Amino acid sequence: APALAIRDLRKTYDNRVEALKGVSLEVRPGDFFALLGPNGAGKSTLIGIVSSLVNATSGEVRVFGIDLMRERSAAMRLVGLVPQEINFNMFEKPLDILVNYAGFYGVPRREALQRAEVELKRAQLWEKANVMSRTLSGGMKRRLMIARAMMTQPKLLILDEPTAGVDIEIRRGMWKTLREINAGGTTIILTTHYLEEAESLCRHLAIIDRGQIVDQGPMKALLAKL
Ligand code: ADP
Ligand code: ADP
Repeated sequence: APALAIRDLRKTYDNRVEALKGVSLEVRPGDFFALLGPNGAGKSTLIGIVSSLVNATSGEVRVFGIDLMRERSAAMRLVGLVPQEINFNMFEKPLDILVNYAGFYGVPRREALQRAEVELKRAQLWEKANVMSRTLSGGMKRRLMIARAMMTQPKLLILDEPTAGVDIEIRRGMWKTLREINAGGTTIILTTHYLEEAESLCRHLAIIDRGQIVDQGPMKALLAKL
């Protein structure tokens, strides 16, 4: 089954704002997929629906074949979300943030400690495992957000504009971590309004504008048209 299959997805807020007007798309297992579009296009709404933060008005969403509307908790176990805003406790240490997060999802402590080591190394944060998170740089904080989402071992990792408003050096550090996660077999979908970011990271791309997919396909084929 596809990692994500969306069919005719619609979302109307407050019975008037049509944020999604019948979106269909498919993401293959193992893919690194970008949803590219300007502000207001509907990217956050789409991501919100797939991560169960927003209710769709109509349409179908399947995560690795599991119907999100009918079997929400089973589908959600496969999805990890990296929200845009940094929201961990600055007065906790990275290792504790990761282990406690996994604990919340029922991962035994021994197992959580093992996963935390893998994720902190992948996020280039192993040396910072036991410092106060408040003292981490901006890039480190963002990589810690990614590491935390990986603690439940999602098959599909979703990031909502992960690099919005950060400088190129911080972006490159995040890209490195994301590439390693994808190389480990996790399917990744990110939203972005930087073509350069999509181009550097992703194999497939969908372009969304005003609630509709205007084009989708392999990165190279779409770039050739621009
Ligand atoms: P993007 O992430 O691409 O910037 P959004 O999904 O945030 O786009 O927004 C798509 C449209 O839906 C915009 O017109 C936005 O104002 C509207 N919208 C988003 N969230 C809400 C909401 N909670 N209530 C009403 N309108 C919303
Ligand atoms: P729903 O329950 O339909 O998914 P939300 O809970 O996301 O809607 O939104 C609740 C309210 O927040 C909306 O009715 C809207 O007035 C307001 N809101 C939140 N984000 C936005 C936005 N980006 N644009 C306009 N309104 C918003």
